[in-house]
Amino acid sequence: MANENTPAVTDTILNFIGGAYRRGSTGKTFDNFAPATGLRIGTVHEASEADVADAVASAKAALNGPWGKMNTAERVKLISAVATEIERRADDFLAAEVADTGKPRHVASHIDIPRGAANFRMFADVISTTPTESFATATPDGGKALNYVVRKPKGVIAVICPWNFPLLLMTWKVGPALACGNTVVVKPSEETPRTAALLGEVMNAVGMPEGVYNVVHGFGAGSAGEFLTSNPDIDAITFTGETGTGQAIMQKAAVGVRDISFELGGKNPAVVFADADLDKVVEGLSRSVFLNTGQVCLGTERVYVERPVFDELVKRMTVAATAFKPGATGDPAYLGPLISAEHQEKVLGYYARAVAEGATVVTGGGVPAISGDEAGGFYVEPTLWTGLAHDSSVMREEIFGPCCGVIPFDSEDEVIGLANDTDYGLCATIWTENLSRAHRVAASMQVGVCWVNCWFLRDLRTAFGGSGHSGIGREGGVHSLEFYTETENVCVKL
Ligand code: NAD
Repeated sequence: MANENTPAVTDTILNFIGGAYRRGSTGKTFDNFAPATGLRIGTVHEASEADVADAVASAKAALNGPWGKMNTAERVKLISAVATEIERRADDFLAAEVADTGKPRHVASHIDIPRGAANFRMFADVISTTPTESFATATPDGGKALNYVVRKPKGVIAVICPWNFPLLLMTWKVGPALACGNTVVVKPSEETPRTAALLGEVMNAVGMPEGVYNVVHGFGAGSAGEFLTSNPDIDAITFTGETGTGQAIMQKAAVGVRDISFELGGKNPAVVFADADLDKVVEGLSRSVFLNTGQVCLGTERVYVERPVFDELVKRMTVAATAFKPGATGDPAYLGPLISAEHQEKVLGYYARAVAEGATVVTGGGVPAISGDEAGGFYVEPTLWTGLAHDSSVMREEIFGPCCGVIPFDSEDEVIGLANDTDYGLCATIWTENLSRAHRVAASMQVGVCWVNCWFLRDLRTAFGGSGHSGIGREGGVHSLEFYTETENVCVKL
């Protein structure tokens, strides 16, 4: 029988409120599954509306406690200590993330966990080094005034996260929110509650004042997610997830005119010109299509290839796709499972629909044959299609699986039109050795992020976000400071 201080990474996953682990007040729980095996591995204690209210009240109280009285240097010291403690406990975070997601250990150990720490360290630097603006102003009486800006925390921030990079995407928001002096209530995905819960231990270990970081577990509508976004003491909401969920959250945010930052879905194009270095393309594309089993918001699901190299690229991508080994846990070529049985069903639905929409299945298209412990895992085959119409639903809707449609094009103007013909606008990738074309086409992409001859190369100081249905606002570097602070202009008549 677990007690209130049970460490988060066991089969019992608790809420973290006011610096202490606790069950939900109504005793409700839900199951936590390992996607790699399909087996139940834990029990998550769901937060009730009263628990969420407690978490928000703790976060609000912390603003007026020791945390609210700290200067930037003191806060930065604590936030940097969080980064160091995540690194010290990297094995625990790795175990938690791999259990929840089934992703390959080498992916979590190279991307998820180090980025989790970097998100704290980087924003500790940004808040320490970013100046605020000031203007010397000539006044009508011939004198002068001095205008300068004071940054202040917004207050209590609701942080609502998805399951694909649980620690990375959560700390991407918690890091800057805390650096700016806010307090947070995090609602991790119901699929991946472990690393958010484990971070509570880190906060206590470094001496973070109670109530600064809170975690409530549960679902969206009618559960912790909605309780959080409806709570009037939430001052701003930062959300990463599906576009439809963003719309629901936006309606809640409208009550009380709360600020939002949304990082939403995508249907990202890659554009491959005939002059591209095909070795680099195949290396980059096979990551952008298959990394994390295609469950990457920045992943490529539409590939447009200039006709002279179309056949060659399809041939080489087929070799790359078939090198992945779904279900082979521990193998360097391991392609992990999808997050859940429900998501597996959704992706397989698109696999069937692609055929119905006239696709030629170049490789994959089904469920791999797997025996042993992983037989019950939520695996699908890495899949490539040709022959799909640009306006087919498979080429327009976000699938979030290890698959893409490949379509030929004949001119630069044509491919710019194809790439931009989408409701989404998260990112695009361009492959060409022609420098002028690279800049020209990059500037014409209607997206928040455009990569040229690379993919997912991230500098955390740069603006990140999407246009259209892919999001509202930008985070990263000073852009995060814009969202997580209120700026007050002070005008002094000299
Ligand atoms: P999701 O929208 O289903 O869930 C995200 C979070 O929102 C979960 O914690 C969920 O419980 C919560 N939620 C759901 N309904 C809610 C409601 N009504 N009120 C409050 N909270 C609610 O998304 P997901 O399936 O977890 O993640 C996959 C999606 O996330 C994909 O669309 C992907 O493109 C997107 N994503 C975007 C980015 C980006 O940076 N743009 C990054 C990663 C993932």
